Amino acid sequence: MPPGSSRLSNLLTQPLRLPRRSVWTSLVAATVLLLAVGATVVSGARRFVQDTRWVGHTHATIEQISRLYARIRDVESAQRGYLLTGHIDYLSQLEVGAPEVEALGRGLIDQVRDNAAQHARAREIATLAVERVAISRQTAALYQEQGLASAQREVASNRGKRVMDHVVELMRAMEAEERRLLAQRETASDASAWRLQWAAALGIGLSLALIGIVFWLMLRENRVRRLAERRAASSSAQLAESVEALRLAGARLHELQRGASMLQSCRTTDEAMDIARQTFTRLFPDLGGGIYLTRASQNLVELRIDWGDAPTDCAQVMSPNDCWAVRRGQPHTVDDSRNGSLCAHLAAGADAAPFAATCVPLVARGETLGLVHLAGSRDTIAAHAELVLAAAEQLSLALSNLQLQETLRVQSIRDPLTGLYNRRYLEESLERELARCARRHQPLAVMMLDLDHFKRFNDTHGHDGGDALLGHVGRLLDALCRGEDIACRYGGEEFILILPEADIEVARTRAEQIRSAISELQILHLRRSLGPVTCSIGVAASPMHADAASALVQAADAALYRAKNAGRNRVEIA
Ligand code: GH3
Ligand code: MG
Ligand code: MG
Repeated sequence: MPPGSSRLSNLLTQPLRLPRRSVWTSLVAATVLLLAVGATVVSGARRFVQDTRWVGHTHATIEQISRLYARIRDVESAQRGYLLTGHIDYLSQLEVGAPEVEALGRGLIDQVRDNAAQHARAREIATLAVERVAISRQTAALYQEQGLASAQREVASNRGKRVMDHVVELMRAMEAEERRLLAQRETASDASAWRLQWAAALGIGLSLALIGIVFWLMLRENRVRRLAERRAASSSAQLAESVEALRLAGARLHELQRGASMLQSCRTTDEAMDIARQTFTRLFPDLGGGIYLTRASQNLVELRIDWGDAPTDCAQVMSPNDCWAVRRGQPHTVDDSRNGSLCAHLAAGADAAPFAATCVPLVARGETLGLVHLAGSRDTIAAHAELVLAAAEQLSLALSNLQLQETLRVQSIRDPLTGLYNRRYLEESLERELARCARRHQPLAVMMLDLDHFKRFNDTHGHDGGDALLGHVGRLLDALCRGEDIACRYGGEEFILILPEADIEVARTRAEQIRSAISELQILHLRRSLGPVTCSIGVAASPMHADAASALVQAADAALYRAKNAGRNRVEIA
C-alpha cells in the first residue's frame, strides 16, 4: 500500500481531531508577533527620527556659533574700517551689527538650553560678545569725539582682543563639545537605522513564516473536514445499506416462516414440492434450482421439481453417489463451475457462463430423503448459504413428517402379515363402493375366501409356517386383483375381495381363477414344502343378493359355509 493511502486510511479510521486549537494559537501568536514587530519598528523609527533630529540640532548649534563669530568679526572689521577711513558707512555697519550680535547670542543660549554645560558656555559667550561689541562702539565713539590717537590707545590696550580671545576659546570648547555630541548622536542614529532595518526584515520574515503556518494549518483543517464529511456520507450510506439488508433479511425470514408453516400443513409430497418451489423461488429469485427425492427403493434419487433459469442441466434420475452432498451427508458448494468439483448429476450448459452451485442434503431422523440444489452467481450463493440451509431443514422436516404420516396411514389400514387391507378399511370401503356403484346403477360383487383345514398347517408346520402361508396367499390375492378391486384380510385365514362393477358371473369366474391359483401354490417353509393348499369361496353380489354391506357379507359367508359343507376347494354363489 503506498504511504499516502495508508495515511488516508489512518485518517479515515482514526477518530478525527480538528486542529482548530493550533490554528487559533498560531493566529494569536502571529498577531502578537506582528504587533511586537510593529511596535519595535515604530519605536525604532521614532528613535531614529529623534537621533536624526539631534544630529540636525548639533549642526544648527555649530552653525549658530559660526554665525555669531562671523557677526562679531564683522563688527570688529567695521570698527577697524572706521578708524582707518573715518568713513561713516563703517559706523552705521557697526551700529547695525551690534543688535544682531546680541540677538545671535540669545539664539545660541536658546539653542543649547537642554545641555547645562553648553548653556553656561553660551551665556558667557553671549555676554562677552555683547561686551566685545560695546568695546568696538566705545572705540568708535572715542575716535569720533577725541580723535584717532585716543581710539588707537584704546585699541592698543588690547581689551577687545582679550575679550575676543576668550570668546573664541569658549566657542571652540563649545564647538568641540558639539562635535563630540554629533559623533555620539550619529553613532546612535546609525545604530537605530540598523536596528530598524533588522527589526523590519525579521518581522517580515517571521510574519511570512507565521502566515505560511496558519495557511498550512487551515489547509489541513480543510482536508480533515472534507474527510470527516466523506466519512459521514459513507457512514450514512452504510447505515442505509444495513437498514435495507435488515429489511430484506426480515422479509426473507418471514417468507421462510410462511413456507415452513405451509409445508407442515401439506397432505402429500406433491403438495410439499409445489410449496417448496414457491418458497425457494421467492427466497432466492436470482437462483435456479431443483429438488431430488430418494425413491422408496433407496437406490435411486429422482428430480421431482425444478425452477428458475438454472445454468445447469440436471439429471432426471441419479445414483445417490452422484451427489457429493448426499454422499457426505453435508452441504456441498462449488464457487466456480469451471474449477470446482461439480456434482455428477449437474452439468454446465454448453454455452453457460461460469456459475456457483450448492447442494444441500435433505436429512431427517438419520435418513437422506433427497437434496435441494441451487445454482447462480457466486455472491448470491455465498450471501444466502445460511438461509438455504434453514429452508432445506424445513423441507426435510416436512418431508419426514409426510413420510411418517404415510407410514401411520398404511399401518392403520394394512394388515402387516399379508400386506392386504385390514377389516376396518374393508368396512369403510365396502360402504363407500356400494354407494358409488348404486349411484351409477352398477353391480358390486363380494368374495369371501377361507383356507381349507388351515389348522392342520399350523399343527404340522408350526404357527410360523401358517404365517408364511398366509403371507403367500396375501401376495397372490394382491397380484390377482385389478386396480379398482379391494383385497382385505377379514380375520384369521379368511379374506374378502370387493369387486366394484362386477356382476355375479364375472365374480364367479374371478373366484374360480383365484381358487385355481391358490390350489397351484407350491410353498416352501424352512426348506420344507407346506403341501397343497386349497380354499373355499362364497360369492354374493349387490343388488342381486343384498343392498347393505353387512347383508352382502352375510350372504357371501353363507355361500362359503355351503362350499365348506359341499366338500371344500370350491366356489359357491349366494
Ligand atoms: P376349515 O377347513 O373348516 O376352515 O378348517 P380350518 O382348520 O381352516 O378352520 P378353523 O377355524 O378351525 O381354524 C382356523 C385356524 O387358523 C385357527 C387359528 O389357530 C388359526 N389362525 C388364525 N389366525 C392365524 C394367524 O394369524 N396365524 C396362524 N398361523 N394361524 C392362525
Ligand atoms: Mg376360518
Ligand atoms: Mg379355514
